[in-house]
Order: sequence, then structure tokens, then C-alpha cells
Amino acid sequence: MGKMDGLTVTECTKCPDLVECRSQIVNGVGPADADILFVGEGPGAQEDEQGEPFVGRSGTVLSDTLRDVGLERDIVRITNCVRCRPPDNRNPRKAELANCREYLETEIDRVDPELVVTLGKVPSEHLLGRSVAVTSEAGSLVDKTIAGKPRRILISVHPAATLYDRSQTDTFVETLTKAAEFTTDTGGQKRLGDF
Ligand code: URA
Repeated sequence: MGKMDGLTVTECTKCPDLVECRSQIVNGVGPADADILFVGEGPGAQEDEQGEPFVGRSGTVLSDTLRDVGLERDIVRITNCVRCRPPDNRNPRKAELANCREYLETEIDRVDPELVVTLGKVPSEHLLGRSVAVTSEAGSLVDKTIAGKPRRILISVHPAATLYDRSQTDTFVETLTKAAEFTTDTGGQKRLGDF
């Protein structure tokens, strides 16, 4: 019903509603050995069209904030809890999250990041296996075993939250500032060379 090649799901028909709605499967992007792995909820319209996570308005916020804290989008890995766009941008259902879980776990296992950043409530609850009050818990580091290995998870608000509640911007920037401490791949040399 599903096939994965490395970090890429090449075919999958596990979720009938999503198969019906999607234009394509949206796999993670970024280096296969990234130090930081960002996990969103699922593709929206833009992502479904372009085949890449976080390329719409939320993606602009994510990319801009990454740059502001000294990270470039292309040095981190970005993926989602589900790889196919849910109809009308509804939240992924429990069964859909469960169906896609093995792909996410495989990606976490193979990328083996220093830090997993969960962007918003859905990925935070999905990976921590409990309810999460994202606004109050944003910036918290939590150790959690995923697919048999201990992982460090940093809870974050979703980048889109900053678009309708400006007070979330500071929270988001502070969280990504903390994330930046988990990599030495900061691209600092490269940026210096560009100036
Ligand atoms: N929101 C998400 O959670 N993921 C995306 O890829 C885009 C928007």
C-alpha cells in the first residue's frame, strides 16, 4: 500500500480521502543528515501544488525567521506528519496520522537529527503522545523515545500562528533561536562570503 525509497515515499494509497484530494505526495526537503528536523502538520494547497513542505504563507514566515536567527532554510530538514493534503485544509485524522507515522519515524531514524522541532499542536501532540498547550509550552525541550531511540524535541508554535496573533512572533523567534543552538551548520562562513 506504500513504498519508501530512502527518505522519499514514492507511492501510497493508505488514506482514501487524501489520495482523492492530493495532486502529489509531499516529502520532506533538506539535507539527509541535517542537525535539525522541523515537523509540520501536513501539506496545504501550495505545498500540494509544488510538492514541497512549507512553501505557502507559513513557509515564508518559517524561511524568514530561520534566516533571522542565523539558520538558512536549506541547511535544515523540513517535513510533515502527513504527506498528502487533507481536503479543505482540515486537520489530519487520527487514522491518517497513524498511517503516515511509519514514514515520519523512518525519516527521523535515517536523518538522525540532534533536534526535532514540532511546528504547532498537531505535530507536538503526535510526537509527544499527549495533549500539548502549544502557546504555553513553546520553547520547551522534551526528551521522548521515538521508534526506539531517545530524541530531543523542541515544541514550537506553528509559523501561521504569527500571522493572526502578532504576540506569537516573539515566541516563534525565541524558539527558533533556541533551535539554532543545536547546529554548527549555521552557514556563517557562507554568509560572510556573500557580503
Ligand atoms: N503547514 C504545515 O503544517 N505544513 C506545511 O507543509 C505547510 C503549512
